[in-house]
Amino acid sequence: MNIIVSSCPSSCGGSMPSSMETVPTDMVDGFGSDDDATEGPGVWGRLFPIGSSFTALDLVKEQYTFGRGDNCDYQFKSPAMRRHPCFQAYSKLHFTLVQEKTSTGTHVFLIDMSSNGTFVNGEKVGKGCKQVMGNNDEIALALPRNKAFIYMDGSCNDDSDLPEELRQQYTLSRILGKGACGEVKLAFEKGSCKKVAVKIIQKKKFSAGGKQQLDNVSRQVMTEVNILKSLKHPCIIQFENLIDTSDTLYIVLELVEGGELFDRVVQLGKLDESTAKLFFYQMALAIKYLHDQNITHRDLKPENILLVSDSHETLVKVTDFGLSKFVDSQTMLKTFCGTPTYLAPEILLTAGTGAYTKAIDCWSLGVILYICLVGYPPFSPDRKDMELGKQITGGHYDFPKAYWSSVSTGAIDLVKKLLCVNVKKRLTVTEALNHPWLQDEGMRRKAEILMHPGDGMLPPQTDCVVS
Ligand code: ADP
Repeated sequence: MNIIVSSCPSSCGGSMPSSMETVPTDMVDGFGSDDDATEGPGVWGRLFPIGSSFTALDLVKEQYTFGRGDNCDYQFKSPAMRRHPCFQAYSKLHFTLVQEKTSTGTHVFLIDMSSNGTFVNGEKVGKGCKQVMGNNDEIALALPRNKAFIYMDGSCNDDSDLPEELRQQYTLSRILGKGACGEVKLAFEKGSCKKVAVKIIQKKKFSAGGKQQLDNVSRQVMTEVNILKSLKHPCIIQFENLIDTSDTLYIVLELVEGGELFDRVVQLGKLDESTAKLFFYQMALAIKYLHDQNITHRDLKPENILLVSDSHETLVKVTDFGLSKFVDSQTMLKTFCGTPTYLAPEILLTAGTGAYTKAIDCWSLGVILYICLVGYPPFSPDRKDMELGKQITGGHYDFPKAYWSSVSTGAIDLVKKLLCVNVKKRLTVTEALNHPWLQDEGMRRKAEILMHPGDGMLPPQTDCVVS
């Protein structure tokens, strides 16, 4: 096994040599020789020494132990280390680095095993706790100023262009999805290890430009964000934080890990009616909650309905609401121009100049319900006999027997009453919730348990505590 010593990319700064050189294991204290790892494709991370008595280490195995003990992969026992004033404060097993594969991807954690503590970026992790490691994180031993290593992620995704405020609080990881306004990334809250989603929005998407316009957007968004912060509903993605820079917004949101409703429907072909009902009921509750606060979603579609888990009967969370009002109506319309599949007829008829009333969300709910039940949309650009706009404004859709014969008349009736071109006759969300199809005690009980898991359910996730 060769170990890279004294290697430091320019991003580390400081006084370390910038050249890479490797030495055989037997020249370095504390490493086994059976593991023939060199810098290469198997390397998932690197520790760069920033304490004088430490050496660099390429991370190849899934787990490494660090300490004074003879069994540690990286032993603190070179003569230089022994002379260090902190040497006596190092534990036999001081910390462990682990590469863990989870449902959200592969992450690297530092587990603190020492009472004197291991510090990541100056913060004590604490014995028995773990901290997710991000690119450029600093590891110190026993004292926050006793810096030992800088951890560099193997993929070396440089986050130095992220704002300081964001980096202080979160470690950003992989991309979860891409939307009209930008990327959504997985992130970890520093200290708590709590996973969150960070939505990164370039402000220029919201305005034609100009500093004053951008400042106005910031002010408007802040006002809106304060409203969003106050929204609390189990079927609505919880807003957690906002970091606002001159050109970018970082919106920190509750993370959900079951993917988009859209993908679930594509994967399964369609949902069975009881699942469609359970999901639809939760969506309707979320939209009722928003409408009760006088907020219109405006952009309801299966891509904006997220599922909490892979399980069949799962909690549903509506996302991506509120901010769309900052996109002017023409832009909004343009984003739909390709396939305005979910757009209400009154918006098309007024070319986007009409009021975005709550009724447009009810129309979109109707489209979503239709798709869930049969796996294809009621209005489609693929239809040869009529262009899409006409289909929508004329309410031209049907329920072909080949697809709908197994669907209950109650479900079909609700779809019809939501996909009603006449706004005045279209059901409100409260009326939809009162529709006979949704008066299903069993389904409502399931939804209640999902939304409000009471005592006796699984305890909350305790990601950071190692038993
Ligand atoms: P946009 O508003 O720019 O269209 P979205 O908010 O729809 O972007 O997000 C794009 C994608 O990112 C989503 O479809 C989803 O896959 C993922 N995503 C968004 N928010 C979350 C979240 N809170 N948890 C997990 N994934 C998310």
